[in-house]
Amino acid sequence: MTTRPTPTSNELTRDFWTGGSVGELRIQRCRTCARWQHPPKPMCTRCHGIDLGPQASSGTGTVWSYTTSQLGGSTEHSNIVADIELDDQNGLHLLSAIVEADHVEIGMPVVVAFEQAEDTWIPVFRLATRHE
Ligand SMILES: [Zn+2]
Repeated sequence: MTTRPTPTSNELTRDFWTGGSVGELRIQRCRTCARWQHPPKPMCTRCHGIDLGPQASSGTGTVWSYTTSQLGGSTEHSNIVADIELDDQNGLHLLSAIVEADHVEIGMPVVVAFEQAEDTWIPVFRLATRHE
């Protein structure tokens, strides 16, 4: 069972891993049809356009599913890996870690945070409180 995605930066993913330096969760977006997609691909899966680029997303989402890792034990909190659906688009999912939380439920709102590791800012999520 994995703990969190291992950053492997390339031309397509560089902005995703470095957007945290300015507090942005950058997700690839099609400039032709405005569809967000993750992980980034060379072509838009909806319109097959190739004019794609990173854009700052809202950084907020909802826990779609999750699993708790039994690895480690050095941290005071459980290691929770979650499939996050971002608020920006239905079906826009991101596999990430939930930090600073002992208990997570499906449907909980989350907000992005970043853990810096040298020149990489790993997007993780914290539980959020929404007042609507
Ligand atoms: Zn498109």
